[in-house]
Amino acid sequence: MTENAKQALVNLLDLDESGLREFFEGIDEKPFRATQVMKWIYHHGVTDFSAMTDLGKDLRQRLGSLACITLPTILKQQRSNDGTVKWMLGLPGGNAVETVYIPEANRGTLCVSSQVGCALNCSFCSTATQGFSRNLMTSEIIGQVFLAAQALGHERNGKRAITNVVMMGMGEPLLNFDALAPALNLMRDDLGYGFASRRVTVSTAGLVPMIDRLRESVDVALAVSLHAPIDDLRVQLVPLNKKYPIKELMAACQRYVAGRNKCQVTFEYTMMGGINDFPEHARQLVKLLRRVPSKLNIIPFNPYPGARYSCSSPERIEAFKQIVMRGGLIATVRKTRGEDIDAACGQLVGKVRDRTRRQAAHNAQLAGQASA
Ligand code: SAH
Repeated sequence: MTENAKQALVNLLDLDESGLREFFEGIDEKPFRATQVMKWIYHHGVTDFSAMTDLGKDLRQRLGSLACITLPTILKQQRSNDGTVKWMLGLPGGNAVETVYIPEANRGTLCVSSQVGCALNCSFCSTATQGFSRNLMTSEIIGQVFLAAQALGHERNGKRAITNVVMMGMGEPLLNFDALAPALNLMRDDLGYGFASRRVTVSTAGLVPMIDRLRESVDVALAVSLHAPIDDLRVQLVPLNKKYPIKELMAACQRYVAGRNKCQVTFEYTMMGGINDFPEHARQLVKLLRRVPSKLNIIPFNPYPGARYSCSSPERIEAFKQIVMRGGLIATVRKTRGEDIDAACGQLVGKVRDRTRRQAAHNAQLAGQASA
């Protein structure tokens, strides 16, 4: 099949249950075909129409000419000493993204990317250094879960390896809402992966209007990358704070949990030595978060080449944690995982050959200008 003909096919991984039902209605088939196809794809891992035996031969053939089930390609799989697994996935157009699996005693978390690169330019994140290339499609988001589930199999005592999904990979998920929402539906849907609402988390740098939209669209857990308790400091770390300052962000978080049973917001706080790790910051954080049902996730800063920050000392992290806990917050320090394979928070980069070359040419040009 030619590239053009392939592009005209509908990738069924781009459609959630309602999208699939519409698709089947659109080709004069019964909408319940969506149920059958979803079970094949998400429960049995089947991507070949000819193997979907309850569809009837004619329909299987028709699907072959109208639709496809196309996944990203695995370019590289690395396994850390601590069991963390990282995949680099290739996408059409030569882009790449990373997905990370983090096994723990009682759960297995898959960290999923939402964009190639990121446009938010947070000053402490390595993904920011590569700039923004493009949004992922729904198929490329849910495809990360599909590929990881397949690669991991039932490797944990016969149980499902992935118990939780966090949208904490590359990109800002809420800036890719239209592709994200159907992917979240597929994660939650019993015909998809059937994860409970607390087990799917969307992490955001704080896009206030989109937090409201998420609340209205799909029932998942919310994490907010806070990193500072006051606007002056937060603006330096998360430039988006200029547009949506802390007060508005907190109000959106309160709206998110309002009326929801047992719902709380996770606030992420990356500890950077001499920047946001003073006792005063911990006290300010207590005041700020007391009004929102929440827990604080303290993340030791992970260094990367060219980073302008360093990690707070273990003593400072512990002192910070003690203050917030005495203030009544629930706080945990995230254990850094997968460091030996650069799979830790803020270390994900989808090295794009083309872009890297462009960057090298740009650097050479600058060097030339400097020496001229
Ligand atoms: N854009 C979304 C999703 C990315 S999540 C968001 O901002 O929430 C990635 C998490 O890792 C965020 O909390 C981010 O702030 C954090 N992070 C980024 N760079 C880091 C680094 N170098 N060390 C530790 N955490 C980092």
